[in-house]
Amino acid sequence: MRIPFLDLSSPHIEMEEELIEVFRSALRSGSFVGGPMVEDFEQAFAAFCGTRFAVGVGSGTDALRFAVMAAGIGSGQIAITVPNTFTATAEAITQSGARVDFVDIDARTYNMDPAKLEQYLSTKCRWDDASGTLIHVELGIPVTAVVPVHLYGQPADMDAILEIATKYNLTVIEDACQAHGAEYYSEKQGRWLKAGSMGRAAAFSFYPGKNLGACGEAGAVTTNDEMIAKKIRMLRDHGQARKYHHEMEGYNGRLDAIQAGILLHKLKRLPEWTEQRREKAACYGELLAGCEELVVPFEPACAKGVYHLYVVRTEAREDLIRHLSGAGIGTGIHYPIPLHLQKCYKHLGYKQGNFPVSEKASREVLSLPMFPGLRLEEQEKVVHQIRHFPAATPQGRPDRLVPAPVA
Ligand SMILES: *Cc1c(COP(=O)(O)O)cnc(C)c1O
Repeated sequence: MRIPFLDLSSPHIEMEEELIEVFRSALRSGSFVGGPMVEDFEQAFAAFCGTRFAVGVGSGTDALRFAVMAAGIGSGQIAITVPNTFTATAEAITQSGARVDFVDIDARTYNMDPAKLEQYLSTKCRWDDASGTLIHVELGIPVTAVVPVHLYGQPADMDAILEIATKYNLTVIEDACQAHGAEYYSEKQGRWLKAGSMGRAAAFSFYPGKNLGACGEAGAVTTNDEMIAKKIRMLRDHGQARKYHHEMEGYNGRLDAIQAGILLHKLKRLPEWTEQRREKAACYGELLAGCEELVVPFEPACAKGVYHLYVVRTEAREDLIRHLSGAGIGTGIHYPIPLHLQKCYKHLGYKQGNFPVSEKASREVLSLPMFPGLRLEEQEKVVHQIRHFPAATPQGRPDRLVPAPVA
């Protein structure tokens, strides 16, 4: 029995007839880019996220870049995110013209640590009354935005981040690319809020492996701000508000009609798939209980994660990966190199030790198989292999992560 890390074919085989129908109707209407299928999906996705607007774009990276730009973030400004994320979060900031900078994560949630954000803003920056902005003392330019990532499908601590952002006049753009349908309980508002509805704008990816995935590339920005929605509609379409009337330079970042049609069908199944992911996560939690050297995901009471990834951590990661792979079990690492240590961000001048929590996570995190159709026997096999893993290390660990239960 081989257990893949991810199963992208089963849901599509199950939905084959309705997905082919989308393709057929696009072929017959000749409407391939934009059009009614895109608008229908945008309305449905906005309703799903609890926002006034959703604007379909070409990818999650487009969504992030356009959201940052539409919020007025760009050249001569600093936007802050975390080192423990997919590189697109930082790329989008840089490509808007702004300078990316980092604050470390929380060791239990792997998301932005609001205390580290506050520390950065209060120690590295000074408030400038004349411009009403926070100036980075060393760089001499304003910090204007923060981009928290709802990593692995777990919402970041948004009450705290939004409060800090209000205090320092920062724009918050959510990277919700892994968090379709995730919920956060806002103490401040006294209710549950959907990922993608809390910042000024938010970016979603519909890359095939995401919780809501297209059969190709796709993304969307959600927002309650009509001006931002309007700007993104222009940015995705060469800056035109009307055909051949270019109010600004934009991009080719539109959403395919076929992808939108596919996404609309798959969106109807998403609540059920999310429920299954949450059940699988709870099941892993039970099966792994007592496994002392393996840290399972932490879900704070204010969060309902959607388990895009089920991420455990162990110091014996490399050995465990080899062992699981030998048993036919697929795994992933999200992510092996924190962004501040990537070659492409060398010019920022960071080194090993600057973001210790992210660095430790990058050495220890391991993503176990997780997808809606994952079966109980498969989860049991994964956990059986973990429990019977000979972790031979120089420190003389026990020869198994935990003793096998006594019969
Ligand atoms: C997938 C992802 C992106 C980028 O989305 P694409 O659709 O691949 O461009 C950005 N941020 C995070 C956290 C992601 O997981």
